[in-house]
Amino acid sequence: MTAILNFFKNFLTLDDVPTRLPEIAQKIPVGATIIPRPEHCISRKQVSDNALKVLYRLRKEGFDAYLVGGGVRDLLLGREPKDFDVVTDAEPEQVARIFSNCRLIGKRFRLAHICYGRDIVEVATFRKASDDAKQNARLTKEGRILQDNIYGSLEEDVWRRDFTINALYYNIRDFSIVDFVGGMADHEACLIRLIGDASARFREDPVRMLRAVRFAVKLGFKLHEDCEQAIPVNAHLLASVPAARLHDEMSKLFLTGYGVQTFEMLRQHGLFGVLFPAVEKSLSHEEAHFPKMMVINALKNSDNRIAENKPVTTYFLLAALLWEPMLHRAKEKIAKGTPDADAYHEAASEVLTQQVRRIAIPRHLTLAIREVWSLQPKFAARSGMKPNRLMTHPRFRAAYDFLVLRAQAGSAPAELAEWWTAYQSANETEQRKMTQPKQQPKSAKPKRKRPYRKKTKNPAIAIHSES
Ligand code: ATP
Ligand code: MG
Repeated sequence: MTAILNFFKNFLTLDDVPTRLPEIAQKIPVGATIIPRPEHCISRKQVSDNALKVLYRLRKEGFDAYLVGGGVRDLLLGREPKDFDVVTDAEPEQVARIFSNCRLIGKRFRLAHICYGRDIVEVATFRKASDDAKQNARLTKEGRILQDNIYGSLEEDVWRRDFTINALYYNIRDFSIVDFVGGMADHEACLIRLIGDASARFREDPVRMLRAVRFAVKLGFKLHEDCEQAIPVNAHLLASVPAARLHDEMSKLFLTGYGVQTFEMLRQHGLFGVLFPAVEKSLSHEEAHFPKMMVINALKNSDNRIAENKPVTTYFLLAALLWEPMLHRAKEKIAKGTPDADAYHEAASEVLTQQVRRIAIPRHLTLAIREVWSLQPKFAARSGMKPNRLMTHPRFRAAYDFLVLRAQAGSAPAELAEWWTAYQSANETEQRKMTQPKQQPKSAKPKRKRPYRKKTKNPAIAIHSES
């Protein structure tokens, strides 16, 4: 009797009143293969302390608690997970009552975020994706899910997940892995396989096509035949995905260290053109490896910076991707008689306006892109005070990096980029020498007056647009 009282006392001393008493007997999931702890390589030592705290606390409160998704997938491959996703039978409000550091977020998916400073452990409630849930869920006429917030059991939760390798559950009760869909076998075979009918799953949520490519590249896995065949057929559906959601996906695709390979694979499967129609069009008119080299070099730079733990910015990459479409449009306008400066200004606005319809780009980023672009012609002025003044511009560093990128891709003179590299590391005396107007060599003959020629307003840009 004392033992039983002590058992319950543990729970009564908790900060919040327990929502449910603990179940002593463990539920065995129906239809699953259980991989016991000695038969897999995931150790608690590899799980973050905060994720463990959340799992244990939920369990202590009498709820089921599992790690799922990328955390389990990456640990099985011996990789360090980006984050840990927890899934439970506790509803979000119950989770909020247990954790004082909990925030409830999301409309489409109501989720609990347990915040430990900047580290957030995401806790989701089991959801249904069975036929009756589909009837309840709100679908668009193409079959896209708008709302699917119907809670379910572990056995039901598995069917709403995207790929078999993302649907493995690590059980905190006994440290086993629960596998309903052959995820362990696909892990071993290095396969990205959708759960259920590939086309139907892509129609429900076209972003899954981007996720398939992202995981294939990141993990070095192959797309399962059904998945590969269903992508070109459904690629166009990405156009109906809300632009804000695609912004987040774009960052994950291009700014997590595998940008070059991801770009190539997205193009190969007809997905890149849906995300960036104007860029795809410009890539089809490739000349002397431009603009593809520019895009590849920008992605390579980002990948290298990530590998060196340096920060990367979305706007720089977008500026590189959209540079050629902007130049092309400006050239057309100039040919029709629009003055240079107006043509570049209008072209920038039009290209960005069109792009944000597909992928949202916050205003501070479109402003930054415009600044990087509009600083390019200023690099041509190399005498007097102008270079020094340009260096004090808050966007100078990004604009200079962009000039170097252009030079590498043959869209700006290499000599110009080299001059600016040297100028930045030169001391004051050297800088003064570098910016002195060039002396005309004295000649015996009197100088002939040159006829007046109109100056190009954007010489640094014109270098490419004339080629
Ligand atoms: P990573 O966090 O490394 O990018 P992840 O697989 O953990 O990869 P999350 O976006 O964190 O990706 O999602 C966690 C889990 O939620 C996934 O593993 C998957 O089981 C499920 N999930 C996420 N997005 C979808 C989706 N669009 N459709 C179906 N299931 C999804
Ligand atoms: Mg994750």
